[in-house]
Amino acid sequence: NFISAVVPPGEIGVKFDDIGALEDVKKALKELVILPMRRPELFSQGNLLRPCKGILLFGPPGTGKTLLAKALATEAGANFISITGSTLTSKWFGDAEKLTKALFSFASKLAPVIIFVDEVDSLLGARGGGSEHEATRRMRNEFMAAWDGLRSKDSQRILILGATNRPFDLDDAVIRRLPRRIYVDLPDAENRKKILKIFLSQEHLESAFQFDKLAYATDGYSGSDLKNLCIAAAYRPVQELLEEEKEECRNDVDPVLRPLSLDDFIQSK
Ligand code: ATP
Repeated sequence: NFISAVVPPGEIGVKFDDIGALEDVKKALKELVILPMRRPELFSQGNLLRPCKGILLFGPPGTGKTLLAKALATEAGANFISITGSTLTSKWFGDAEKLTKALFSFASKLAPVIIFVDEVDSLLGARGGGSEHEATRRMRNEFMAAWDGLRSKDSQRILILGATNRPFDLDDAVIRRLPRRIYVDLPDAENRKKILKIFLSQEHLESAFQFDKLAYATDGYSGSDLKNLCIAAAYRPVQELLEEEKEECRNDVDPVLRPLSLDDFIQSK
């Protein structure tokens, strides 16, 4: 149970189409991961083409790194194992060797598999000198040894996908093992509009609702911030209806909520 999730591809429930914007990131992941996982035989013939063993997604919090990892597993038809760096190093220290062995042997049984290491900096961060916990150091060394030790057959079908908000904290040895690094940026106005359209696709909006205006009003928001804003805005008509019911001492059997307006979002910021 140091693994936070193990999900077969059909049950992950997220596809690339559910992710707004990030088109370049999706394209890079498709080339680097999906093709080699689906057609490993194309990558095992010469010497030049080798499937990538490790990819790092880095960028500000809430920009969709976890979501991308899940969608990638769906699209690649791979199982998805998720572990969190800080959980491994804090709760389970002491048993580094056993845990990493278990993780990698489990992964080879599940291949093709994507091992998503969230907060990879806590597990594989730069060596902390004297202050570093001995157990953290052992865990990191074990992890890297097991990673290097993947048999070549497995390495085509096991991908380590690390995510971090703090790429500068990563050790050089880790950076080398994550040869592809992909920046997952905050969305600009055009991309915020695309993300908002996904979140609001099933909502009842005013007919004159202007996505452009909302996109411009949310400068600096991450995908996660946009989602929270949409949830807060969608709550306003519910709250109003509940207040009306209370004032008029009624309890609607079939309540009809008013459509969402731009103002609901602005007021929820
Ligand atoms: P952290 O670095 O804090 O772990 P993260 O980059 O992994 O964050 P996610 O956990 O993937 O971010 O995103 C949080 C939530 O924000 C997602 O579950 C999703 O609802 C929403 N989200 C973020 N970006 C997008 C996007 N581009 N399209 C759709 N939803 C998004």
